[in-house]
Amino acid sequence: MHFQKQELRIKHNMPTINHSSIEISNINSNQEVLDRVQLNELFVSIEGEGIFAGTKTLFIRFSGCHLRCYWCDTKYSLSTKSGKSYTIDEAKRLIHQHLQPKIYKVNFTGGEPLLQPLSLIALANFVKNELNIKTYLESSCFDWQRFESVLPYFDICKVEFKTSDSKVIEPSKSYDDLIQNELKCLELALNRTDKISFVKIVFTNSTTTNEIRDLTTKIFQCSNIGNLSGITLQPSYQFDSPSTEHILKIYDEVYPFYKDVRVIPQMHKMLDMN
Ligand code: SF4
Repeated sequence: MHFQKQELRIKHNMPTINHSSIEISNINSNQEVLDRVQLNELFVSIEGEGIFAGTKTLFIRFSGCHLRCYWCDTKYSLSTKSGKSYTIDEAKRLIHQHLQPKIYKVNFTGGEPLLQPLSLIALANFVKNELNIKTYLESSCFDWQRFESVLPYFDICKVEFKTSDSKVIEPSKSYDDLIQNELKCLELALNRTDKISFVKIVFTNSTTTNEIRDLTTKIFQCSNIGNLSGITLQPSYQFDSPSTEHILKIYDEVYPFYKDVRVIPQMHKMLDMN
């Protein structure tokens, strides 16, 4: 996937925010049609991952992801054409229709929500500032500039770090470039004291302890790392799932850096929920 450098301006009607216009650089015009959003699905379920596992959540799954991790469990959402195209107003109505009482947060997930940053801002702003519900961003953090642009509209950021055995595909960019973007996104999130930011790392039986140690070392070189709210290690499910022995070895690599590290499997899979 090739990303063209260009600038666009948000045209969505967003009456409650101060930013009358927001510039976002590095947006691929092929990925986003202004005033429309491509959504794969909306549903209410129980959060199954990370430090907010167990909370009742409205999930908004954006269509499209270019990374294609080999253990991806939402392959049906990877095509940018999957799901359906909505106007922003239609998507807001859809969110209204799906809301249920006692929803703790709205999780903007994918696919990769940052492929449609303008729509993401419009809908996150609507949820956060008009519906007054917490907003949660779940992203691979492949592009720090896009992340920085959407950050003001989110209360909770889950910054995911990909290990090399995720086998992500992003032509013209290297795996190191992805890690650098993820580190920069984490730093941007940690610099904001009004956010809850945590790290998730999916690992398999092939993930080496050396790689986890190197990755954790880089994470703990980020400024304001004291603002980190958690690290969750997520064993891969059904793809090269780690043994108990390997899970313990991976845990032991992170523990010296962060005593509150948690191994949390995907709880929704055990509950047979979405
Ligand atoms: S980044 Fe997420 S949505 Fe994209 S391929 Fe990887 S696991 Fe799937």
